[in-house]
Amino acid sequence: MGVSERSIHWFWTSAMLALLNLPLARCSAASVMRVFRLLVGRSGYCFGFPRIALADLFVPGCHRMVEQAGGQLRLEEQVHAVAVEQGRFAGFVLSGGRLLRARAGVLALPPQALAHLARDDPAVASAFPAARPDWFAPSPYVSTLLWLDRKVTSDRFWARVYAPQDLNTDFYDLVNIRGDLAGGPSVIASNAIHVPEAHRLEDAHLVQRTRRELLQFAPRARKARVLHTRVHRIPMAVPCAVPGNESLRPPTASSLPGLFVAGDWTDTGLPFSMESAARSGALAAEAVSDAVGRSLRVALEPPGTTGLIAWLGKRA
Ligand SMILES: Cc1cc2nc3c(=O)[nH]c(=O)nc-3n(C[C@H](O)[C@H](O)[C@H](O)COP(=O)(O)OP(=O)(O)OC[C@H]3O[C@@H](n4cnc5c(N)ncnc54)[C@H](O)[C@@H]3O)c2cc1C
Repeated sequence: MGVSERSIHWFWTSAMLALLNLPLARCSAASVMRVFRLLVGRSGYCFGFPRIALADLFVPGCHRMVEQAGGQLRLEEQVHAVAVEQGRFAGFVLSGGRLLRARAGVLALPPQALAHLARDDPAVASAFPAARPDWFAPSPYVSTLLWLDRKVTSDRFWARVYAPQDLNTDFYDLVNIRGDLAGGPSVIASNAIHVPEAHRLEDAHLVQRTRRELLQFAPRARKARVLHTRVHRIPMAVPCAVPGNESLRPPTASSLPGLFVAGDWTDTGLPFSMESAARSGALAAEAVSDAVGRSLRVALEPPGTTGLIAWLGKRA
């Protein structure tokens, strides 16, 4: 491979790791082609960074809307089983054994949690016949956070070129993103995306390697003292975009009338991502409203393409 071919290869490998959470060589061709079509068929990209944590950005507003509409948020209770009466969904059985009756319901669970329910509950198993524990192999993350004693960069975000022996892909300096940290010393967050062996490494080892990789973009960190560290091991950030997964993605409606499914992994036409999760929620809201005799339309279409790619798409 020549230098430019190699650079293109590393660019795509890094891009797919950051966008599809899997090294390029293991990605599904269908998933790669969709990302490729969206990347080359659109322009005017920009990154948005919320100034507060996502839970603070989204949850209070959603909570308010649910309560204003007469609903309740029960954060301490889990769904344990699905109740079925006369061949249709009748409600959810909660972990305490209580039955929450409803005309329609949405399981907005990760695929492994749904498979776990299906193992113990024949109603869920027959509504989702494909649900098995190995459904949608997970892409794990290890996120390392470093609190430093000084500011080491003015960048908000950077991504490293993929190399198989490396740990982290993307880095953030939260002090340049979060309003409550502004003006203080750097707080570095990094993600090791789909590096399964990282889950077995000790925190001290992960911190040391993260510090080394940080120097590549923020050489001022060499003199910085690390005041505090935290390592999060996340077994499933999103499903892996491996071959076969695209065709497994279930539609919103299950085979049990009145029971629906939502989540980034369902069939939304979008890559496994927050956008996909949001669209799946909107599709589920439409399905529930149809089931109870209303007609709500809130789901936005997946983004289209413009220019040559849109023209070629019409002829394909
Ligand atoms: C570190 C990290 C960084 C990420 N960065 C990005 C990014 O930059 N861009 C992006 O687009 N995506 C990113 N993602 C992925 C993004 O977070 C997911 O795509 C999104 O959260 C999926 O939403 P969801 O509603 O499908 O599932 P989840 O957010 O996983 O929600 C499922 C919920 O179901 C609950 N649950 C499980 N079992 C039960 C049960 N029996 N009863 C009741 N509730 C149950 C769980 O507690 C959980 O709250 C990132 C993920 C991680 C971990």
